[in-house]
Amino acid sequence: MPIIYDKKSEVRKDYFLERYVIISPARMKRPKDVVENSHRQPGQKCVLCPNNVEQDLIVDSIGSKKNWRVLAILNKFPAVARESAKAYGVQEVIIETNRHGHELGDMTQTEIMDVLNMYVKRTNKLSQIKDIDYILIFKNNGGPAGASLLHAHSQIFAAKKIPPDVFHELDKAQEYKIKNGSCVYEDIIKREMKSPRFVWKDKNVIVFCPYASMYHYEVWIFPFAHRDNITNLTEDELKSVAKAMKLVLGKINQYNLPYNFFMHQSISDEDQHFYIKVQPRESIWAGLELGAGMIINSVSPERAAKFYQNKK
Ligand SMILES: [Zn+2]
Ligand SMILES: [Zn+2]
Repeated sequence: MPIIYDKKSEVRKDYFLERYVIISPARMKRPKDVVENSHRQPGQKCVLCPNNVEQDLIVDSIGSKKNWRVLAILNKFPAVARESAKAYGVQEVIIETNRHGHELGDMTQTEIMDVLNMYVKRTNKLSQIKDIDYILIFKNNGGPAGASLLHAHSQIFAAKKIPPDVFHELDKAQEYKIKNGSCVYEDIIKREMKSPRFVWKDKNVIVFCPYASMYHYEVWIFPFAHRDNITNLTEDELKSVAKAMKLVLGKINQYNLPYNFFMHQSISDEDQHFYIKVQPRESIWAGLELGAGMIINSVSPERAAKFYQNKK
């Protein structure tokens, strides 16, 4: 029997990292085929609902502490702690709404702004803590991606050490700047502005699917301006980020796909270009991916861009 290979397969290298992805569209699945993967478990008493939140865990609120719209609480079971010399850090949970079952992707732009403003407040606060050099804001949404509660929430992880992957990216970006005299991300933005991977833009923010995307329907949200972290964004830029998040997460929610998003922020590196990586998690990496570090993505980013533009 002859081997039937995907003639459209293509090995792509990341923009500037030594990372390769095989884009293999013949293996493509439509989003609706994977909805079954993202079922949710019925909860018992929700510890993130206004009446049940443990008062002594609360660290910050948008709205009053009693009538909050967004709440920051300490993670009750953190992997890191300020008391721990070996695993120094702080972990907080951001409760994105007081309404149980109300998803971030279904919120209004104003509601998403409240969540972003909380990220700004907490990043400000946590970056002042001695020895904290890395602040990650992230969200696991949906079963396979790891969320265990039904109440919309994201997390902040602040630690001493920058994870190797992030450090490597910062290092490579710096190297690019020295060599080319420009910010690598701004050069990427210029390239993707008119590419088939472009999704959306306004005057402050651009959304596109990355050229060598690792996950099905992976999408990045970039402010045009070189802002080191979320606290440096202007009010108007934050509004644009909220608009972009609504577009992207709303679309992902329509298909009930689990997803993660990540905002990596280094404190000592003051020359980062802040951006948000959104990674739907319906592509389950198998042997080749885990063993050889070679990732196969069966949804090309060009197709993913059409999905976000409603042109699929
Ligand atoms: Zn709840
Ligand atoms: Zn930049």
